[in-house]
Amino acid sequence: MTAISNVNTLECVGIPLQGTVALVTGGSRGIGHAIARKLASLGAGVSICGRDANALAKSENGIRELGHSVLSQIADVTKASDVESLVKTTEEKLGPISILVNNAGIGRFGPVQDKSEEEWDLVLNTNLKSVFLVSRAVVPSMIRQHKGDIINISSLAGKNTFAGGGIYCASKWGVQGLTGCMAEDLRGHGIRVSAVCPGSVATEFSGRGTKDPKKVLSPDDVAHAVATLVLQGPQSFISEVHLRPLIKP
Ligand code: NDP
Repeated sequence: MTAISNVNTLECVGIPLQGTVALVTGGSRGIGHAIARKLASLGAGVSICGRDANALAKSENGIRELGHSVLSQIADVTKASDVESLVKTTEEKLGPISILVNNAGIGRFGPVQDKSEEEWDLVLNTNLKSVFLVSRAVVPSMIRQHKGDIINISSLAGKNTFAGGGIYCASKWGVQGLTGCMAEDLRGHGIRVSAVCPGSVATEFSGRGTKDPKKVLSPDDVAHAVATLVLQGPQSFISEVHLRPLIKP
């Protein structure tokens, strides 16, 4: 009897998110893929989305091959109809979402005077409007469950300014404001809304030059931070994480 309970305890420690459902936007590559894989390895059923069908299928298969539960759907997070369909399918197939990681994002860099209205709309809609759309679609179910973690992948560019960062920084500063206000709206419902602000991460992130991989973060570093937030004590609320590479770039 004792041996059996020990086994059960060990299983719970190994898969602490068993029975939970996580939605990770932009889970087809880079940071989003690493987060989805991490949450799945902790026992969550994971739903991922992106626009590129091939990248999405590759990410889904990679997570499934490790023996984890995963679902993927093509969805553009800037479109409310895609988002509503994504959330509906996820909840029908996996169950109520209690972890949302708003990760999908793009970068466009350069002085404001060289940027087009289309680039502004693309970056702001992808990085900021999507956080509003996806959160809005998921929150009613979290309120019913009286629990949830919404983790917005912001950036240190949401805390700082730099030459050529105008449009991107505007989007991430917006994410910071939205995160703080949503946190206050929802903490009374048992829902934590937090921001993870990484520095440079080694991914295919659009619009950036290459950097020394030893002096940047890895996608797994960001996934580890997300897992830490999800697994924090039930009464605590880590509202913001600043993540820097150990070795200065
Ligand atoms: P990648 O370019 O490697 O991945 C971006 C992901 O977002 C892809 O899965 C992409 O899929 C998806 N995506 C982009 N636009 C949309 C859209 N309209 N609808 C649905 N999915 C979309 O970038 P990273 O992994 O590096 O970045 C992830 C997040 O981390 C972003 O929010 C970024 O701002 C942030 N970040 C990144 C840093 C870095 O140095 N890399 C540093 C700090 C923050 P698809 O193109 O198929 O749609």
